[in-house]
Amino acid sequence: MSLYPRIAIVGAGPAGLLLACRLHQAGIPFDLFDADAAADARAQGGMLDLHAATGQAALRSAGLFERFQQVARYEDQGMRVLDAQGQVLLDDDGQDGDRPEIDRGHLRDLLLAALPPGKVRWGHVLQRAALEGRSVALHFGNGTCEHADLVVGADGAWSKVRPLLTAVRPQHAGITLYELSLRNVDVDHPDLAALVGRGTLVAKQGTLTLFAQRNADAHVRVYAALPQVLADGEAAPGQTRAGLLRHFTDWHPSLRRLIADADDAVRPWPIHALPVGHRWAHHHAVTLIGDAAHVMPPAGEGANLALRDAADLADALCSADWHTAVQAHEEAMFARAAVSAAAAQRILVSGSAEHMLETMRGQEGRDAG
Ligand SMILES: Cc1cc2nc3c(=O)[nH]c(=O)nc-3n(C[C@H](O)[C@H](O)[C@H](O)COP(=O)(O)OP(=O)(O)OC[C@H]3O[C@@H](n4cnc5c(N)ncnc54)[C@H](O)[C@@H]3O)c2cc1C
Repeated sequence: MSLYPRIAIVGAGPAGLLLACRLHQAGIPFDLFDADAAADARAQGGMLDLHAATGQAALRSAGLFERFQQVARYEDQGMRVLDAQGQVLLDDDGQDGDRPEIDRGHLRDLLLAALPPGKVRWGHVLQRAALEGRSVALHFGNGTCEHADLVVGADGAWSKVRPLLTAVRPQHAGITLYELSLRNVDVDHPDLAALVGRGTLVAKQGTLTLFAQRNADAHVRVYAALPQVLADGEAAPGQTRAGLLRHFTDWHPSLRRLIADADDAVRPWPIHALPVGHRWAHHHAVTLIGDAAHVMPPAGEGANLALRDAADLADALCSADWHTAVQAHEEAMFARAAVSAAAAQRILVSGSAEHMLETMRGQEGRDAG
Protein backbone atom coordinates (compact mmCIF):
# COMPACT_ATOMS: atom_id res chain seq x y z
CA MET A 1 0.00 0.00 0.00
CA SER A 2 1.27 3.49 -0.88
CA LEU A 3 2.59 5.73 1.89
CA TYR A 4 0.76 8.65 0.38
CA PRO A 5 -2.88 9.43 -0.32
CA ARG A 6 -3.82 9.68 -4.00
CA ILE A 7 -3.70 13.47 -4.35
CA ALA A 8 -5.55 15.38 -7.06
CA ILE A 9 -4.97 19.11 -7.50
CA VAL A 10 -7.65 20.91 -9.49
CA GLY A 11 -6.39 24.19 -11.00
CA ALA A 12 -2.99 25.17 -12.38
CA GLY A 13 -3.00 28.81 -11.30
CA PRO A 14 -0.34 30.16 -8.92
CA ALA A 15 -1.69 28.06 -6.01
CA GLY A 16 -2.02 24.73 -7.83
CA LEU A 17 1.30 25.03 -9.67
CA LEU A 18 3.33 25.99 -6.60
CA LEU A 19 1.83 23.07 -4.68
CA ALA A 20 2.62 20.77 -7.61
CA CYS A 21 6.25 21.96 -7.73
CA ARG A 22 6.71 21.30 -4.03
CA LEU A 23 5.10 17.83 -4.14
CA HIS A 24 7.15 16.91 -7.20
CA GLN A 25 10.36 17.96 -5.40
CA ALA A 26 9.35 15.90 -2.35
CA GLY A 27 8.64 12.83 -4.48
CA ILE A 28 4.96 12.78 -3.46
CA PRO A 29 2.76 11.53 -6.33
CA PHE A 30 -0.17 13.66 -7.51
CA ASP A 31 -2.33 14.47 -10.51
CA LEU A 32 -2.89 18.06 -11.63
CA PHE A 33 -5.87 19.03 -13.77
CA ASP A 34 -6.71 22.36 -15.40
CA ALA A 35 -9.63 23.60 -17.44
CA ASP A 36 -7.49 25.50 -19.97
CA ALA A 37 -6.92 23.64 -23.23
CA ALA A 38 -3.17 24.35 -23.02
CA ALA A 39 -0.67 26.46 -21.06
CA ASP A 40 -0.95 29.28 -23.60
CA ALA A 41 -4.70 28.97 -24.25
CA ARG A 42 -5.49 32.37 -22.72
CA ALA A 43 -3.67 35.55 -21.75
CA GLN A 44 -2.84 35.49 -18.05
CA GLY A 45 -3.54 39.18 -17.33
CA GLY A 46 -1.58 41.87 -15.53
CA MET A 47 1.33 41.93 -13.19
CA LEU A 48 1.67 40.94 -9.55
CA ASP A 49 3.99 42.29 -6.89
CA LEU A 50 5.26 39.49 -4.70
CA HIS A 51 5.60 40.18 -1.00
CA ALA A 52 8.40 38.90 1.23
CA ALA A 53 6.34 36.94 3.77
CA THR A 54 3.97 35.31 1.30
CA GLY A 55 4.68 35.14 -2.45
CA GLN A 56 8.47 35.43 -2.20
CA ALA A 57 8.66 33.02 0.76
CA ALA A 58 6.65 30.46 -1.19
CA LEU A 59 8.97 30.68 -4.20
CA ARG A 60 11.99 30.35 -1.91
CA SER A 61 10.47 27.21 -0.39
CA ALA A 62 10.38 25.69 -3.88
CA GLY A 63 13.95 26.77 -4.69
CA LEU A 64 12.61 29.09 -7.39
CA PHE A 65 13.55 32.46 -5.93
CA GLU A 66 16.72 32.93 -8.02
CA ARG A 67 14.81 32.20 -11.20
CA PHE A 68 12.11 34.64 -10.05
CA GLN A 69 14.76 37.33 -9.52
CA GLN A 70 15.93 36.88 -13.11
CA VAL A 71 12.49 37.79 -14.51
CA ALA A 72 11.14 40.06 -11.75
CA ARG A 73 11.11 43.79 -12.32
CA TYR A 74 12.66 45.41 -9.25
CA GLU A 75 12.66 48.72 -11.12
CA ASP A 76 8.83 48.84 -11.34
CA GLN A 77 7.90 48.89 -7.64
CA GLY A 78 6.91 52.54 -7.52
CA MET A 79 3.55 53.71 -6.15
CA ARG A 80 1.85 57.02 -6.85
CA VAL A 81 -1.44 58.01 -5.20
CA LEU A 82 -3.35 61.00 -6.56
CA ASP A 83 -6.66 62.59 -5.82
CA ALA A 84 -9.15 63.09 -8.66
CA GLN A 85 -7.79 66.59 -9.34
CA GLY A 86 -4.36 65.16 -9.99
CA GLN A 87 -2.83 66.33 -6.73
CA VAL A 88 -0.06 63.90 -5.72
CA LEU A 89 -0.57 62.46 -2.22
CA LEU A 90 2.18 59.85 -2.39
CA ASP A 91 5.08 59.49 -4.79
CA ASP A 92 7.24 56.54 -3.81
CA ASP A 93 9.78 55.52 -6.44
CA GLY A 94 10.01 52.09 -4.82
CA GLN A 95 13.81 52.09 -4.84
CA ASP A 96 13.92 50.79 -1.25
CA GLY A 97 10.97 48.45 -1.72
CA ASP A 98 10.88 44.68 -1.58
CA ARG A 99 7.80 44.02 -3.70
CA PRO A 100 9.24 43.13 -7.11
CA GLU A 101 6.78 42.83 -9.96
CA ILE A 102 6.26 39.86 -12.24
CA ASP A 103 3.83 39.44 -15.10
CA ARG A 104 1.38 36.62 -14.44
CA GLY A 105 2.36 34.85 -17.64
CA HIS A 106 6.02 34.86 -16.58
CA LEU A 107 5.08 33.47 -13.14
CA ARG A 108 3.10 30.67 -14.77
CA ASP A 109 6.00 29.86 -17.13
CA LEU A 110 8.45 29.80 -14.24
CA LEU A 111 6.31 27.37 -12.24
CA LEU A 112 5.54 25.17 -15.25
CA ALA A 113 9.24 24.91 -16.09
CA ALA A 114 9.84 23.36 -12.65
CA LEU A 115 7.49 20.47 -13.45
CA PRO A 116 8.14 17.53 -15.78
CA PRO A 117 6.67 18.13 -19.25
CA GLY A 118 3.12 16.84 -19.55
CA LYS A 119 2.51 16.92 -15.79
CA VAL A 120 -0.45 19.30 -16.09
CA ARG A 121 -3.45 17.54 -17.56
CA TRP A 122 -4.88 20.40 -19.60
CA GLY A 123 -8.42 20.35 -21.01
CA HIS A 124 -9.92 18.91 -17.80
CA VAL A 125 -12.82 21.17 -16.82
CA LEU A 126 -14.11 19.90 -13.50
CA GLN A 127 -17.88 19.85 -13.61
CA ARG A 128 -18.69 18.08 -10.37
CA ALA A 129 -16.91 16.49 -7.43
CA ALA A 130 -18.69 13.84 -5.36
CA LEU A 131 -17.78 11.87 -2.24
CA GLU A 132 -17.70 8.12 -2.81
CA GLY A 133 -16.96 6.37 0.45
CA ARG A 134 -13.65 7.75 1.71
CA SER A 135 -12.54 9.02 -1.69
CA VAL A 136 -13.68 11.71 -4.10
CA ALA A 137 -14.82 11.24 -7.69
CA LEU A 138 -13.94 14.07 -10.08
CA HIS A 139 -16.18 14.33 -13.13
CA PHE A 140 -14.67 16.31 -16.01
CA GLY A 141 -16.30 17.93 -19.02
CA ASN A 142 -14.32 15.69 -21.39
CA GLY A 143 -16.25 12.70 -20.05
CA THR A 144 -13.47 11.29 -17.85
CA CYS A 145 -13.75 10.55 -14.14
CA GLU A 146 -10.81 10.34 -11.72
CA HIS A 147 -10.69 9.27 -8.08
CA ALA A 148 -8.54 10.66 -5.29
CA ASP A 149 -8.12 10.27 -1.51
CA LEU A 150 -7.37 13.97 -1.12
CA VAL A 151 -8.61 16.66 -3.50
CA VAL A 152 -7.05 20.10 -3.35
CA GLY A 153 -9.33 22.72 -4.88
CA ALA A 154 -7.01 25.34 -6.38
CA ASP A 155 -9.59 26.16 -9.03
CA GLY A 156 -10.11 29.83 -8.28
CA ALA A 157 -13.09 31.99 -7.36
CA TRP A 158 -15.72 29.73 -8.92
CA SER A 159 -14.30 26.52 -7.49
CA LYS A 160 -16.20 23.35 -8.36
CA VAL A 161 -14.49 21.60 -5.44
CA ARG A 162 -15.75 24.10 -2.83
CA PRO A 163 -19.38 22.79 -2.76
CA LEU A 164 -18.05 19.61 -1.10
CA LEU A 165 -17.13 21.77 1.91
CA THR A 166 -19.57 24.67 2.00
CA ALA A 167 -22.63 26.08 0.27
CA VAL A 168 -21.24 29.62 0.53
CA ARG A 169 -20.63 31.27 -2.85
CA PRO A 170 -18.75 34.46 -3.71
CA GLN A 171 -21.00 37.51 -3.92
CA HIS A 172 -20.55 40.51 -6.19
CA ALA A 173 -18.66 43.08 -4.13
CA GLY A 174 -20.55 46.02 -5.62
CA ILE A 175 -17.75 47.02 -7.96
CA THR A 176 -16.62 46.14 -11.49
CA LEU A 177 -13.15 46.89 -12.85
CA TYR A 178 -12.91 47.73 -16.54
CA GLU A 179 -9.47 46.94 -17.96
CA LEU A 180 -7.93 49.01 -20.76
CA SER A 181 -4.47 49.00 -22.33
CA LEU A 182 -1.94 51.65 -23.28
CA ARG A 183 0.73 49.98 -25.40
CA ASN A 184 4.22 51.16 -26.28
CA VAL A 185 3.61 53.83 -23.69
CA ASP A 186 7.15 55.28 -23.58
CA VAL A 187 7.06 56.19 -27.26
CA ASP A 188 3.35 56.69 -27.98
CA HIS A 189 2.24 58.30 -24.66
CA PRO A 190 5.37 59.63 -22.91
CA ASP A 191 3.40 62.04 -20.69
CA LEU A 192 1.16 59.19 -19.45
CA ALA A 193 4.26 57.06 -18.88
CA ALA A 194 5.59 59.85 -16.65
CA LEU A 195 2.24 60.20 -14.87
CA VAL A 196 2.10 56.46 -14.04
CA GLY A 197 5.80 56.30 -13.12
CA ARG A 198 7.72 53.05 -12.58
CA GLY A 199 4.98 50.94 -11.02
CA THR A 200 1.37 51.61 -10.03
CA LEU A 201 -0.74 54.75 -9.97
CA VAL A 202 -3.98 54.92 -7.98
CA ALA A 203 -6.43 57.82 -8.08
CA LYS A 204 -9.63 57.77 -6.08
CA GLN A 205 -12.68 59.85 -5.37
CA GLY A 206 -15.77 58.51 -3.65
CA THR A 207 -16.79 55.23 -5.25
CA LEU A 208 -14.66 55.75 -8.38
CA THR A 209 -11.06 54.57 -8.68
CA LEU A 210 -8.51 54.54 -11.49
CA PHE A 211 -5.54 52.17 -11.30
CA ALA A 212 -2.74 52.14 -13.85
CA GLN A 213 0.03 49.51 -13.70
CA ARG A 214 3.19 49.39 -15.71
CA ASN A 215 3.68 45.86 -17.12
CA ALA A 216 6.56 44.40 -19.15
CA ASP A 217 7.17 45.67 -22.71
CA ALA A 218 6.06 49.27 -21.97
CA HIS A 219 2.46 48.10 -21.62
CA VAL A 220 0.33 50.00 -19.09
CA ARG A 221 -2.85 48.30 -17.93
CA VAL A 222 -5.53 50.72 -16.72
CA TYR A 223 -8.44 49.65 -14.52
CA ALA A 224 -11.45 51.93 -14.04
CA ALA A 225 -13.46 50.80 -11.01
CA LEU A 226 -17.17 51.59 -11.08
CA PRO A 227 -19.76 50.91 -8.39
CA GLN A 228 -22.27 48.37 -9.73
CA VAL A 229 -24.57 45.92 -8.07
CA LEU A 230 -24.95 42.65 -9.97
CA ALA A 231 -27.28 39.81 -9.08
CA ASP A 232 -25.78 36.34 -8.63
CA GLY A 233 -24.73 35.10 -12.08
CA GLU A 234 -25.52 38.40 -13.84
CA ALA A 235 -22.86 39.56 -16.35
CA ALA A 236 -21.29 43.00 -15.97
CA PRO A 237 -22.66 45.48 -18.53
CA GLY A 238 -20.30 46.22 -21.42
CA GLN A 239 -18.54 49.57 -21.47
CA THR A 240 -16.77 51.66 -24.08
CA ARG A 241 -14.08 54.26 -23.42
CA ALA A 242 -16.67 57.02 -24.00
CA GLY A 243 -19.08 55.32 -21.58
CA LEU A 244 -16.39 55.06 -18.93
CA LEU A 245 -15.30 58.67 -19.37
CA ARG A 246 -18.82 59.85 -18.55
CA HIS A 247 -18.23 58.61 -14.98
CA PHE A 248 -15.04 60.64 -14.66
CA THR A 249 -16.18 64.01 -16.12
CA ASP A 250 -14.95 66.13 -13.20
CA TRP A 251 -11.57 64.38 -12.94
CA HIS A 252 -8.31 66.03 -13.96
CA PRO A 253 -7.72 65.86 -17.77
CA SER A 254 -4.43 63.96 -17.33
CA LEU A 255 -6.23 61.18 -15.44
CA ARG A 256 -9.09 61.09 -17.97
CA ARG A 257 -6.51 60.55 -20.71
CA LEU A 258 -5.60 57.20 -19.14
CA ILE A 259 -8.99 56.11 -20.49
CA ALA A 260 -9.33 58.38 -23.52
CA ASP A 261 -5.96 57.41 -25.06
CA ALA A 262 -6.23 53.66 -24.38
CA ASP A 263 -6.96 50.97 -26.99
CA ASP A 264 -10.62 50.37 -27.83
CA ALA A 265 -10.87 46.96 -26.12
CA VAL A 266 -12.45 47.20 -22.65
CA ARG A 267 -12.55 44.06 -20.51
CA PRO A 268 -14.92 43.87 -17.51
CA TRP A 269 -13.79 42.22 -14.25
CA PRO A 270 -16.80 42.02 -11.95
CA ILE A 271 -15.34 41.71 -8.45
CA HIS A 272 -16.67 38.89 -6.31
CA ALA A 273 -15.66 37.96 -2.80
CA LEU A 274 -16.32 35.30 -0.21
CA PRO A 275 -17.35 36.66 3.19
CA VAL A 276 -14.48 37.94 5.33
CA GLY A 277 -13.45 35.08 7.63
CA HIS A 278 -14.84 32.37 5.31
CA ARG A 279 -13.96 28.89 6.64
CA TRP A 280 -15.21 25.32 6.63
CA ALA A 281 -15.17 22.32 8.93
CA HIS A 282 -12.09 20.20 8.26
CA HIS A 283 -12.70 17.27 5.90
CA HIS A 284 -10.32 14.31 5.56
CA ALA A 285 -10.59 14.18 1.74
CA VAL A 286 -11.00 17.78 0.55
CA THR A 287 -9.26 21.11 1.07
CA LEU A 288 -9.03 24.44 -0.74
CA ILE A 289 -6.24 26.96 -1.31
CA GLY A 290 -5.94 30.36 -2.97
CA ASP A 291 -9.02 32.08 -4.39
CA ALA A 292 -11.05 28.88 -4.03
CA ALA A 293 -10.62 29.26 -0.26
CA HIS A 294 -10.81 33.02 0.17
CA VAL A 295 -11.39 35.08 -2.99
CA MET A 296 -11.38 38.76 -1.99
CA PRO A 297 -11.45 42.13 -3.77
CA PRO A 298 -8.09 42.77 -5.50
CA ALA A 299 -5.83 44.74 -3.19
CA GLY A 300 -2.49 43.19 -4.14
CA GLU A 301 -2.71 40.16 -1.86
CA GLY A 302 -4.64 37.40 -3.66
CA ALA A 303 -1.83 35.74 -5.61
CA ASN A 304 0.56 36.22 -2.71
CA LEU A 305 -1.78 34.40 -0.35
CA ALA A 306 -2.41 31.70 -2.96
CA LEU A 307 1.33 30.96 -3.21
CA ARG A 308 1.80 30.99 0.56
CA ASP A 309 -1.22 28.67 1.09
CA ALA A 310 0.29 26.23 -1.39
CA ALA A 311 3.71 26.26 0.27
CA ASP A 312 2.18 25.69 3.71
CA LEU A 313 -0.06 22.89 2.44
CA ALA A 314 2.98 21.24 0.85
CA ASP A 315 4.80 21.43 4.20
CA ALA A 316 1.78 19.79 5.85
CA LEU A 317 1.58 17.01 3.25
CA CYS A 318 5.28 16.29 3.70
CA SER A 319 4.87 15.66 7.42
CA ALA A 320 4.40 12.18 8.89
CA ASP A 321 0.98 12.95 10.40
CA TRP A 322 -0.30 14.81 7.36
CA HIS A 323 -3.99 14.69 8.42
CA THR A 324 -3.31 16.71 11.56
CA ALA A 325 -0.84 18.97 9.76
CA VAL A 326 -3.36 19.83 7.01
CA GLN A 327 -5.93 20.79 9.63
CA ALA A 328 -3.40 23.05 11.40
CA HIS A 329 -2.45 24.61 8.06
CA GLU A 330 -6.14 25.36 7.33
CA GLU A 331 -6.55 27.15 10.67
CA ALA A 332 -3.48 29.33 9.97
CA MET A 333 -4.73 30.02 6.43
CA PHE A 334 -8.20 31.08 7.68
CA ALA A 335 -6.64 33.55 10.12
CA ARG A 336 -4.18 34.99 7.57
CA ALA A 337 -6.82 35.36 4.84
CA ALA A 338 -9.34 37.00 7.19
CA VAL A 339 -6.91 39.85 7.96
CA SER A 340 -6.17 40.45 4.26
CA ALA A 341 -9.82 40.17 3.23
CA ALA A 342 -10.87 42.73 5.84
CA ALA A 343 -8.16 45.14 4.61
CA ALA A 344 -9.19 44.54 0.97
CA GLN A 345 -12.81 45.38 1.87
CA ARG A 346 -11.71 48.57 3.63
CA ILE A 347 -9.67 49.64 0.58
CA LEU A 348 -12.67 48.88 -1.64
CA VAL A 349 -15.07 51.05 0.37
CA SER A 350 -12.54 53.79 1.22
CA GLY A 351 -14.15 57.02 0.07
CA SER A 352 -10.97 59.01 -0.40
CA ALA A 353 -7.44 58.48 -1.63
CA GLU A 354 -6.16 59.55 1.81
CA HIS A 355 -8.21 56.87 3.57
CA MET A 356 -7.08 54.23 1.11
CA LEU A 357 -3.47 55.26 1.65
CA GLU A 358 -3.86 54.82 5.40
CA THR A 359 -5.24 51.28 4.92
CA MET A 360 -2.51 50.37 2.46
CA ARG A 361 0.18 51.54 4.89
CA GLY A 362 -1.34 49.29 7.57
CA GLN A 363 -1.16 46.40 5.10
CA GLU A 364 2.51 47.08 4.32
CA GLY A 365 3.29 47.22 8.03
CA ARG A 366 1.83 43.72 8.49
CA ASP A 367 3.76 42.48 5.47
CA ALA A 368 7.05 43.74 6.83
CA GLY A 369 6.26 42.23 10.25
C1 LIG B 1 -8.36 42.50 -11.90
C2 LIG B 1 -7.57 41.73 -10.88
C3 LIG B 1 -6.34 42.21 -10.45
C4 LIG B 1 -5.60 41.50 -9.49
N1 LIG B 1 -4.40 41.99 -9.09
C5 LIG B 1 -3.67 41.32 -8.16
C6 LIG B 1 -2.40 41.81 -7.71
O1 LIG B 1 -1.92 42.86 -8.15
N2 LIG B 1 -1.71 41.09 -6.78
C7 LIG B 1 -2.19 39.91 -6.27
O2 LIG B 1 -1.51 39.30 -5.41
N3 LIG B 1 -3.39 39.42 -6.67
C8 LIG B 1 -4.13 40.09 -7.59
N4 LIG B 1 -5.34 39.60 -7.99
C9 LIG B 1 -5.83 38.35 -7.41
C10 LIG B 1 -5.14 37.14 -8.06
O3 LIG B 1 -5.33 37.17 -9.46
C11 LIG B 1 -5.73 35.84 -7.50
O4 LIG B 1 -5.84 35.94 -6.10
C12 LIG B 1 -4.82 34.66 -7.85
O5 LIG B 1 -4.73 34.48 -9.24
C13 LIG B 1 -5.37 33.39 -7.19
O6 LIG B 1 -4.61 32.28 -7.60
P1 LIG B 1 -5.29 30.83 -7.62
O7 LIG B 1 -4.22 29.91 -8.10
O8 LIG B 1 -5.92 30.58 -6.31
O9 LIG B 1 -6.48 30.93 -8.66
P2 LIG B 1 -6.49 31.31 -10.20
O10 LIG B 1 -5.36 32.20 -10.56
O11 LIG B 1 -7.87 31.80 -10.49
O12 LIG B 1 -6.24 29.92 -10.94
C14 LIG B 1 -7.25 28.94 -10.97
C15 LIG B 1 -6.90 27.90 -12.01
O13 LIG B 1 -7.92 26.90 -11.96
C16 LIG B 1 -8.38 26.63 -13.26
N5 LIG B 1 -9.81 26.25 -13.15
C17 LIG B 1 -10.83 27.07 -12.86
N6 LIG B 1 -11.98 26.38 -12.86
C18 LIG B 1 -11.65 25.10 -13.14
C19 LIG B 1 -12.41 23.92 -13.29
N7 LIG B 1 -13.76 23.90 -13.15
N8 LIG B 1 -11.78 22.76 -13.61
C20 LIG B 1 -10.42 22.74 -13.76
N9 LIG B 1 -9.66 23.85 -13.63
C21 LIG B 1 -10.27 25.02 -13.32
C22 LIG B 1 -8.13 27.89 -14.07
O14 LIG B 1 -7.98 27.60 -15.45
C23 LIG B 1 -6.87 28.43 -13.42
O15 LIG B 1 -5.70 27.97 -14.09
C24 LIG B 1 -6.11 40.29 -8.95
C25 LIG B 1 -7.36 39.80 -9.38
C26 LIG B 1 -8.08 40.52 -10.32
C27 LIG B 1 -9.44 40.00 -10.76
